[in-house]
Amino acid sequence: MSKSHSAPKSLENAFVVYSRLFTYVRRYWPSLVIGIIASMVYSGIDAWFVYFLKVLVNKGLVAKNHEFLSTAPILVLVVFIMRGLASFLSNYNIASVSRSVIMKLRQDIFKHLQRLPARFYDHSTSGQVLSVILYSVEQVANASADVITTAVQSFFLVVGLLIVMFQTSWKLSLLYFFIIPLITVVMRYTSLRVRRLSLSIQESMAALSHSAEENLEGYKVVRAFGGQTFEAEKFDKAARVNRQREMKVIAARSWSVSSVQLIAAIALSVTLYVATLDIADSILSPGGFISLVAAMLALLKPMKDLTSMQNKLYRGIAGAETVFELLDEKPEEDKGTYTVPRVKGKMEFRDVGFSYDAKKTVLKEINFKIEPGQVVALVGRSGSGKSTLVSLLPRFYTDYSGEILLDDVSIGDYTLASLRNQFSLVSQNVTLFNDTIANNIAYGRFNDVSETEIIAAAKAAHAYDFIEQLPNGLQTLVGENGVLLSGGQRQRIAIARAILKNAPILILDEATSALDTESERYIQSALEDLIRTRTTLVIAHRLSTVEHADKIIVLDDAHIVETGNHAELLALNGYYAKLYRMQFKDESVDIEN
Ligand code: ATP
Ligand code: MG
Repeated sequence: MSKSHSAPKSLENAFVVYSRLFTYVRRYWPSLVIGIIASMVYSGIDAWFVYFLKVLVNKGLVAKNHEFLSTAPILVLVVFIMRGLASFLSNYNIASVSRSVIMKLRQDIFKHLQRLPARFYDHSTSGQVLSVILYSVEQVANASADVITTAVQSFFLVVGLLIVMFQTSWKLSLLYFFIIPLITVVMRYTSLRVRRLSLSIQESMAALSHSAEENLEGYKVVRAFGGQTFEAEKFDKAARVNRQREMKVIAARSWSVSSVQLIAAIALSVTLYVATLDIADSILSPGGFISLVAAMLALLKPMKDLTSMQNKLYRGIAGAETVFELLDEKPEEDKGTYTVPRVKGKMEFRDVGFSYDAKKTVLKEINFKIEPGQVVALVGRSGSGKSTLVSLLPRFYTDYSGEILLDDVSIGDYTLASLRNQFSLVSQNVTLFNDTIANNIAYGRFNDVSETEIIAAAKAAHAYDFIEQLPNGLQTLVGENGVLLSGGQRQRIAIARAILKNAPILILDEATSALDTESERYIQSALEDLIRTRTTLVIAHRLSTVEHADKIIVLDDAHIVETGNHAELLALNGYYAKLYRMQFKDESVDIEN
């Protein structure tokens, strides 16, 4: 995503994009057909009216046919009622197609986003993705609806008017055809330009929403560090760039519309000149003359619409290109077929290596085994790869080397759903939804959970005490990502969620780091029951919390430096012992103070 926003895309595949877009439009064909037929009727009536002028003048005014003059007003009224109806049906149905396409595209994008791998999210900002869902998709609507409406209405009007003109005087009408190549040249030039600009407008929209979004989320840091001016300048620039690019499109569009109209007007004046000569030779009736001029004047608007339609079309194609590019991002692989209701919890890493990018190895030669029911701790300095290691287990990243086995089956052989069912994960960054505490705890078990179970989980996570004190208890709203709660409270809700999920393997990544020592001890003892019946992987900086683990794996600089239990590692007097002594010293200093 991020790359595609900087490089201009090829302009050749407009046809491919449009035919793909058409597969969306096609779904709503009944409305589309009604809309198109109504548009034809609408334009037909307009063309007919220009023809009717000739009859009106010749029969009514020149020949003074009374019978005709008395029926004409009624005829006009009836025809215009039909015209109104056709106009409504055409606009309504075609807009309905376009809104449906928008809805469908948005739904498809969202579904697709849920299947995209962690790497996609590592490399794209939510601002970019939001701008695709909100902005680019709307551009597509313009391409599908407005363009279809204009194309159909204007095309039939042009055809209708040309028929009227030719029928009136084909010689004079031929003149009009000289301008077509000229108009094509103008249109081709602008369309290329507009299409290029449309892509860059989308980029600027993405930058704009990215900047706004980051500021909304990080408003506290911005203010605390006095970054308002810096941020405002960044946003101003993004807004300015967006305006400039929009204005360039508007300039290009206005220029082409005026040029086309000018060309048409020149043709009109030449025709008029010749027509006056023609009238002198009395080839043209007065009605015919009026009708011819009216047709030529009436041609200006659909021609203008067709010109500006092109630009909308290209904006839409640019939008669709971005949308399809997102839809074409490769989803997570889910080729495994093995399913199991509940694993025993045996895990094994065999020579596992991993890196996020080619530059730096994050894990190398990782070998260890965890027996069912064991508690294994991962320790090591910040950045040593602990979180990365556990993120391989639920297959958030799949391009690791070596093998990872769960119950002696490679994790790649499981279906994703079955594999992920086996883990209760409390990650380093707690994610809460803007919903009630109860729903946050019960997340993942949407319909089959009783309040008693929720309360039990909250109690086990040592969260119920504070929940009870909240005005609405379990029904309290937590705010966006839990802003209305304290850091430790958020962690406890996340732990309660993991407890309620009741998966055979529990992964706690710094799950109690925000808690005071006392709460941490409480949770630990509460977790003990839980831990006894399942396999647990704990990541912790505070070594006092992992002393009782069956096995402690010490990571440093991407690989395992030591393994053993607390006593063994102390006896080894290596990395762990050093780390432990350092922390012990800190803690005793704390106590002395
Ligand atoms: P901490 O104790 O601070 O949580 P950690 O041991 O959990 O550290 P990891 O989060 O696994 O460390 O990160 C290991 C290395 O991988 C770091 O150098 C980090 O910069 C890098 N890294 C982490 N996540 C990503 C990512 N999504 N894309 C690229 N690099 C990453
Ligand atoms: Mg980490």
